[in-house]
Amino acid sequence: MVRTTSQDKMKIKNYTKILEVVTANPGINRKKVSSLTKLSNQTLSNLVKELSDFGYVLEFPLEDAPGYGRKPIGLQVNFKAFLIISLEFTYNSLGVYLNTCDGEVLQYDRYALDKALDVITIIKEGVENALKYANTRVFAIVMSAEGIIDEDNRKLTHIKALALKDVDLGQEQAYLHIPFFLLNETNLICSHVNLTNTKPHNFMVVKLDTGIGCSIALDGHIQKTSANNMPGKLGHLKVTNPDEDVTCWCGGKNCLSAFISRDFIEARFNLPYEEALRLIRDGEASGFYGKILSYLAPILANVTTLMGIEKIYACGRMVDIFGTTFIADLAREITPLIPSWINFMGIEESPVPSIPEQCSVYFMDYFLKNILTYLETVEETPFKVR
Ligand SMILES: [Zn+2]
Repeated sequence: MVRTTSQDKMKIKNYTKILEVVTANPGINRKKVSSLTKLSNQTLSNLVKELSDFGYVLEFPLEDAPGYGRKPIGLQVNFKAFLIISLEFTYNSLGVYLNTCDGEVLQYDRYALDKALDVITIIKEGVENALKYANTRVFAIVMSAEGIIDEDNRKLTHIKALALKDVDLGQEQAYLHIPFFLLNETNLICSHVNLTNTKPHNFMVVKLDTGIGCSIALDGHIQKTSANNMPGKLGHLKVTNPDEDVTCWCGGKNCLSAFISRDFIEARFNLPYEEALRLIRDGEASGFYGKILSYLAPILANVTTLMGIEKIYACGRMVDIFGTTFIADLAREITPLIPSWINFMGIEESPVPSIPEQCSVYFMDYFLKNILTYLETVEETPFKVR
């Protein structure tokens, strides 16, 4: 924990004010920063000099500024100065990236995971190897995880494929003294859309893959329920009028994920997931394509109506393999089920940036908005000249 006096706190808040304004307006000149932050020219000048000495801000002459003589100085956040470890945790592998917050990957390793292996030790070793490679401060570890997790308590609640239950990953990583963020993969994509796109107030990201992921943002805020997160819920809404009754692994009857998740599709077609999806798209099993639409559309329409969703962003291997016609077919099925007073603008394929990009955007946003909390979790201040 970094000890901070109230004077330090004031200064650090001013640093982050500047960083926030410059992040939102790359190339902005000092005069505009001064008016947006309400800091006096002299104070701003001193703080920018310090931020530049730490390496967090770059100053450069604005060549295309009008007029002759000395060009005004533009400011830009140096995202290369922020190094993080991004983890991609799936049911069968762990990707470990050491990357700067502009998304540049300096080191990458991938480890196979299986329920017969000691998954937690593999995660620790992966992180330790990446740390060895880093020769400067690592600001955070950000993990995108498939499965049912508890983000607030940084627990892997239930990862069926790896036989993990209630693993306190935050505690497992505590010895590293590096802030650790655990996020459901769909929440992380939703957060990226929320922070970077021009997006509607209320939207939903749906991932149709090994599992069914769903994340909902209302009025710019990603929704959480008290003990758990949204993901892990959409897949267990009930399909209406299925042709047969199917019991889900959760014990419930006719859950959506019991009909369209990887396990079900692989078992039904006795093929690997992607091959089965291709067969459903254009092979003998193509009749099943219509069933998927009829299972999925009413559930998405109900959630849209209840939450006032304006746009659905879809991603995942099912979307990749079925292609753009799938999105169009889903839209055609969903739209008539939604009342006219809901401002529903349709469904589109979600952009899915790389894991290092998703983790970088998440971390920078957290860092700028929660700097004092961040300082409570690290041993050394990030605000000193190296
Ligand atoms: Zn279920």
